[in-house]
Amino acid sequence: MSAATLAEPQAPPLAVRCRGVTKVYENGTKVMALRGVDLDVRRGEVLLLMGPSGCGKTTLISVMAGILDRTEGECEVFGRDPSGLSASELTAFRGRHVGFVFQAFNLLPSLTAAENVAVPLLLQGMPRPRAVDRAREILARVNMAEQADRLPTQLSGGQQQRVAIARALVHDPHLVVCDEPTSSLDHATGQRVMATLRAVAAGPDRALVVVTHDTRIVEFADRIAVMDDGRIVRVEQPPARTDASRETP
Ligand code: ADP
Repeated sequence: MSAATLAEPQAPPLAVRCRGVTKVYENGTKVMALRGVDLDVRRGEVLLLMGPSGCGKTTLISVMAGILDRTEGECEVFGRDPSGLSASELTAFRGRHVGFVFQAFNLLPSLTAAENVAVPLLLQGMPRPRAVDRAREILARVNMAEQADRLPTQLSGGQQQRVAIARALVHDPHLVVCDEPTSSLDHATGQRVMATLRAVAAGPDRALVVVTHDTRIVEFADRIAVMDDGRIVRVEQPPARTDASRETP
Protein backbone atom coordinates (compact mmCIF):
# COMPACT_ATOMS: atom_id res chain seq x y z
CA MET A 1 0.00 0.00 0.00
CA SER A 2 1.44 3.39 -0.90
CA ALA A 3 2.01 6.21 1.55
CA ALA A 4 -0.63 8.21 -0.28
CA THR A 5 -3.25 5.53 0.42
CA LEU A 6 -2.31 5.46 4.10
CA ALA A 7 -2.50 9.22 4.50
CA GLU A 8 -5.37 10.65 6.54
CA PRO A 9 -8.07 12.08 4.30
CA GLN A 10 -7.59 15.83 4.03
CA ALA A 11 -10.20 17.94 5.80
CA PRO A 12 -11.90 20.18 3.25
CA PRO A 13 -10.51 23.71 3.38
CA LEU A 14 -12.50 26.10 5.51
CA ALA A 15 -14.59 29.02 4.33
CA VAL A 16 -13.64 31.08 7.37
CA ARG A 17 -11.05 30.36 10.04
CA CYS A 18 -10.82 32.67 13.06
CA ARG A 19 -8.27 32.16 15.81
CA GLY A 20 -7.93 34.39 18.86
CA VAL A 21 -9.64 37.29 17.12
CA THR A 22 -9.94 40.40 19.27
CA LYS A 23 -11.40 43.79 18.46
CA VAL A 24 -11.04 46.89 20.59
CA TYR A 25 -13.01 50.00 19.59
CA GLU A 26 -11.25 53.16 20.70
CA ASN A 27 -13.55 56.16 20.42
CA GLY A 28 -12.46 58.00 23.55
CA THR A 29 -13.24 55.00 25.75
CA LYS A 30 -12.06 51.50 24.91
CA VAL A 31 -14.63 48.81 24.23
CA MET A 32 -13.38 45.23 23.89
CA ALA A 33 -16.01 43.88 21.50
CA LEU A 34 -14.21 40.59 20.67
CA ARG A 35 -12.13 38.85 23.33
CA GLY A 36 -10.47 35.99 21.44
CA VAL A 37 -12.86 34.35 18.99
CA ASP A 38 -12.05 30.89 17.68
CA LEU A 39 -14.49 29.84 14.98
CA ASP A 40 -14.48 27.74 11.83
CA VAL A 41 -17.09 28.13 9.12
CA ARG A 42 -17.06 25.14 6.80
CA ARG A 43 -17.53 25.26 3.07
CA GLY A 44 -21.14 24.65 2.12
CA GLU A 45 -22.31 25.55 5.60
CA VAL A 46 -25.06 27.81 6.93
CA LEU A 47 -23.93 29.04 10.34
CA LEU A 48 -26.19 31.08 12.59
CA LEU A 49 -24.54 33.43 15.07
CA MET A 50 -26.71 34.07 18.10
CA GLY A 51 -26.31 35.74 21.47
CA PRO A 52 -27.42 38.77 23.47
CA SER A 53 -27.32 42.27 22.07
CA GLY A 54 -23.86 43.81 22.38
CA CYS A 55 -21.98 40.48 22.59
CA GLY A 56 -20.00 41.18 19.39
CA LYS A 57 -21.92 39.44 16.59
CA THR A 58 -21.94 42.36 14.14
CA THR A 59 -18.30 43.10 14.90
CA LEU A 60 -17.35 39.49 14.15
CA ILE A 61 -19.12 39.30 10.79
CA SER A 62 -17.67 42.70 9.85
CA VAL A 63 -14.16 41.35 10.52
CA MET A 64 -14.94 38.22 8.46
CA ALA A 65 -16.24 40.36 5.60
CA GLY A 66 -13.14 42.56 5.56
CA ILE A 67 -15.18 45.64 6.50
CA LEU A 68 -13.47 46.05 9.85
CA ASP A 69 -9.86 45.41 10.89
CA ARG A 70 -9.38 43.12 13.85
CA THR A 71 -7.06 44.19 16.67
CA GLU A 72 -5.32 40.82 17.16
CA GLY A 73 -5.60 37.21 16.06
CA GLU A 74 -5.98 35.42 12.75
CA CYS A 75 -8.87 35.45 10.32
CA GLU A 76 -8.81 33.79 6.90
CA VAL A 77 -11.64 33.84 4.39
CA PHE A 78 -11.31 31.13 1.75
CA GLY A 79 -7.60 31.07 2.52
CA ARG A 80 -7.09 34.84 2.26
CA ASP A 81 -6.50 37.21 5.15
CA PRO A 82 -8.48 40.38 4.37
CA SER A 83 -6.27 42.49 6.63
CA GLY A 84 -3.21 41.49 4.58
CA LEU A 85 -4.65 43.09 1.44
CA SER A 86 -4.05 46.61 0.17
CA ALA A 87 -7.05 48.94 0.00
CA SER A 88 -7.63 48.26 -3.69
CA GLU A 89 -7.13 44.49 -3.29
CA LEU A 90 -9.58 44.52 -0.38
CA THR A 91 -12.20 46.35 -2.43
CA ALA A 92 -11.75 43.81 -5.24
CA PHE A 93 -11.84 40.89 -2.77
CA ARG A 94 -15.07 42.08 -1.17
CA GLY A 95 -16.58 42.90 -4.53
CA ARG A 96 -15.93 39.42 -5.88
CA HIS A 97 -16.20 37.18 -2.86
CA VAL A 98 -18.35 38.75 -0.14
CA GLY A 99 -22.02 39.71 0.11
CA PHE A 100 -23.11 41.68 3.19
CA VAL A 101 -26.68 42.30 4.31
CA PHE A 102 -26.51 45.23 6.72
CA GLN A 103 -29.01 45.62 9.52
CA ALA A 104 -29.73 49.18 8.32
CA PHE A 105 -30.06 47.94 4.69
CA ASN A 106 -27.80 50.81 3.40
CA LEU A 107 -29.74 51.29 0.15
CA LEU A 108 -28.87 54.28 -2.03
CA PRO A 109 -31.94 56.56 -1.88
CA SER A 110 -31.75 57.95 -5.42
CA LEU A 111 -31.57 54.51 -7.08
CA THR A 112 -34.47 52.15 -7.75
CA ALA A 113 -34.57 48.71 -6.17
CA ALA A 114 -33.20 47.10 -9.35
CA GLU A 115 -30.44 49.72 -9.66
CA ASN A 116 -29.47 49.22 -5.99
CA VAL A 117 -29.24 45.47 -6.52
CA ALA A 118 -27.19 45.99 -9.71
CA VAL A 119 -24.50 48.06 -7.94
CA PRO A 120 -22.09 45.16 -7.15
CA LEU A 121 -22.24 44.07 -10.82
CA LEU A 122 -21.70 47.62 -12.12
CA LEU A 123 -18.66 47.89 -9.82
CA GLN A 124 -17.30 44.75 -11.50
CA GLY A 125 -17.72 46.44 -14.89
CA MET A 126 -20.80 44.58 -16.13
CA PRO A 127 -22.72 46.61 -18.75
CA ARG A 128 -25.72 48.33 -17.17
CA PRO A 129 -28.55 46.61 -19.10
CA ARG A 130 -27.17 43.15 -18.26
CA ALA A 131 -26.59 44.11 -14.64
CA VAL A 132 -30.13 45.44 -14.22
CA ASP A 133 -31.59 42.33 -15.91
CA ARG A 134 -29.67 40.12 -13.51
CA ALA A 135 -30.81 42.32 -10.59
CA ARG A 136 -34.44 41.82 -11.65
CA GLU A 137 -33.96 38.03 -11.67
CA ILE A 138 -32.64 38.06 -8.12
CA LEU A 139 -35.39 40.43 -6.98
CA ALA A 140 -37.94 37.94 -8.35
CA ARG A 141 -36.37 35.23 -6.18
CA VAL A 142 -37.13 37.28 -3.07
CA ASN A 143 -40.66 38.06 -4.29
CA MET A 144 -39.86 41.66 -5.25
CA ALA A 145 -40.29 41.61 -9.05
CA GLU A 146 -43.20 44.05 -8.96
CA GLN A 147 -41.33 46.61 -6.86
CA ALA A 148 -38.12 46.57 -8.96
CA ASP A 149 -38.62 50.13 -10.29
CA ARG A 150 -39.51 51.74 -6.97
CA LEU A 151 -37.22 53.97 -4.91
CA PRO A 152 -36.35 52.81 -1.37
CA THR A 153 -38.68 55.47 0.13
CA GLN A 154 -41.56 53.83 -1.75
CA LEU A 155 -40.88 50.47 -0.11
CA SER A 156 -41.80 49.08 3.30
CA GLY A 157 -39.09 48.05 5.77
CA GLY A 158 -39.54 44.39 4.86
CA GLN A 159 -39.32 45.19 1.14
CA GLN A 160 -36.15 47.24 1.66
CA GLN A 161 -34.70 44.31 3.58
CA ARG A 162 -35.36 41.99 0.63
CA VAL A 163 -33.67 44.47 -1.74
CA ALA A 164 -30.65 44.47 0.57
CA ILE A 165 -30.61 40.66 0.51
CA ALA A 166 -30.88 40.57 -3.29
CA ARG A 167 -27.96 43.04 -3.54
CA ALA A 168 -25.83 40.77 -1.32
CA LEU A 169 -26.51 37.76 -3.58
CA VAL A 170 -26.46 39.30 -7.05
CA HIS A 171 -22.74 38.80 -7.75
CA ASP A 172 -22.80 35.18 -6.54
CA PRO A 173 -20.33 35.73 -3.69
CA HIS A 174 -18.53 32.92 -1.90
CA LEU A 175 -19.20 34.25 1.59
CA VAL A 176 -22.51 35.89 2.48
CA VAL A 177 -22.85 37.50 5.90
CA CYS A 178 -26.20 38.82 7.05
CA ASP A 179 -27.11 40.95 10.04
CA GLU A 180 -30.66 40.09 11.15
CA PRO A 181 -31.94 39.39 7.61
CA THR A 182 -35.44 38.41 8.72
CA SER A 183 -36.03 41.03 11.43
CA SER A 184 -38.57 43.06 9.39
CA LEU A 185 -40.22 40.09 7.67
CA ASP A 186 -43.35 38.15 8.52
CA HIS A 187 -42.95 34.43 9.10
CA ALA A 188 -43.75 33.24 5.56
CA THR A 189 -41.53 35.85 3.89
CA GLY A 190 -38.73 35.16 6.36
CA GLN A 191 -38.86 31.46 5.53
CA ARG A 192 -38.80 32.19 1.80
CA VAL A 193 -35.87 34.58 2.15
CA MET A 194 -33.91 32.07 4.25
CA ALA A 195 -34.59 29.34 1.69
CA THR A 196 -33.26 31.67 -1.04
CA LEU A 197 -30.19 32.57 1.02
CA ARG A 198 -29.58 28.91 1.73
CA ALA A 199 -29.97 27.87 -1.90
CA VAL A 200 -27.75 30.62 -3.29
CA ALA A 201 -25.12 30.76 -0.60
CA ALA A 202 -24.68 27.21 0.62
CA GLY A 203 -23.04 25.53 -2.38
CA PRO A 204 -19.81 23.57 -1.92
CA ASP A 205 -17.61 26.64 -2.41
CA ARG A 206 -19.93 28.95 -0.53
CA ALA A 207 -20.80 29.76 3.06
CA LEU A 208 -23.48 31.76 4.79
CA VAL A 209 -23.18 33.35 8.23
CA VAL A 210 -26.35 34.84 9.67
CA VAL A 211 -26.57 36.96 12.81
CA THR A 212 -30.04 36.54 14.21
CA HIS A 213 -32.32 36.59 17.23
CA ASP A 214 -35.04 34.93 15.16
CA THR A 215 -35.52 31.42 16.53
CA ARG A 216 -37.98 30.73 13.68
CA ILE A 217 -35.06 30.33 11.25
CA VAL A 218 -32.85 27.93 13.23
CA GLU A 219 -33.98 25.03 11.07
CA PHE A 220 -32.08 26.58 8.13
CA ALA A 221 -28.78 26.26 10.01
CA ASP A 222 -26.20 23.52 9.83
CA ARG A 223 -24.74 24.79 13.10
CA ILE A 224 -25.47 27.54 15.58
CA ALA A 225 -22.58 29.41 17.22
CA VAL A 226 -23.59 31.14 20.45
CA MET A 227 -21.67 34.23 21.53
CA ASP A 228 -21.48 35.98 24.86
CA ASP A 229 -19.32 38.89 25.94
CA GLY A 230 -17.03 38.82 22.90
CA ARG A 231 -16.48 35.06 22.74
CA ILE A 232 -18.01 31.97 21.16
CA VAL A 233 -19.31 30.07 24.19
CA ARG A 234 -20.69 27.02 22.40
CA VAL A 235 -21.56 25.60 18.98
CA GLU A 236 -24.83 23.68 18.74
CA GLN A 237 -26.64 21.54 16.24
CA PRO A 238 -30.03 22.93 15.24
CA PRO A 239 -33.19 21.02 16.12
CA ALA A 240 -34.60 18.57 13.56
CA ARG A 241 -35.32 20.20 10.23
CA THR A 242 -38.48 20.36 8.21
CA ASP A 243 -38.28 19.69 4.48
CA ALA A 244 -39.16 23.35 3.80
CA SER A 245 -35.71 24.49 4.90
CA ARG A 246 -34.07 22.33 2.23
CA GLU A 247 -36.42 23.07 -0.67
CA THR A 248 -35.35 25.25 -3.56
CA PRO A 249 -37.51 28.36 -3.33
P1 ADP B 1 -24.01 42.72 18.64
O1 ADP B 1 -23.99 42.67 17.15
O2 ADP B 1 -23.88 41.38 19.28
O3 ADP B 1 -25.19 43.48 19.18
P2 ADP B 1 -21.79 44.57 18.34
O4 ADP B 1 -20.73 43.84 17.61
O5 ADP B 1 -22.65 45.52 17.58
O6 ADP B 1 -22.70 43.51 19.13
O7 ADP B 1 -21.13 45.38 19.55
C1 ADP B 1 -20.25 44.77 20.48
C2 ADP B 1 -19.78 45.85 21.46
O8 ADP B 1 -19.00 46.81 20.76
C3 ADP B 1 -20.91 46.63 22.12
O9 ADP B 1 -20.53 46.96 23.44
C4 ADP B 1 -21.01 47.87 21.26
O10 ADP B 1 -21.55 48.95 22.01
C5 ADP B 1 -19.57 48.11 20.87
N1 ADP B 1 -19.43 48.78 19.57
C6 ADP B 1 -19.92 48.34 18.38
N2 ADP B 1 -19.56 49.19 17.39
C7 ADP B 1 -18.83 50.17 17.97
C8 ADP B 1 -18.16 51.34 17.48
N3 ADP B 1 -18.17 51.65 16.19
N4 ADP B 1 -17.51 52.11 18.36
C9 ADP B 1 -17.47 51.78 19.68
N5 ADP B 1 -18.08 50.71 20.22
C10 ADP B 1 -18.74 49.91 19.38
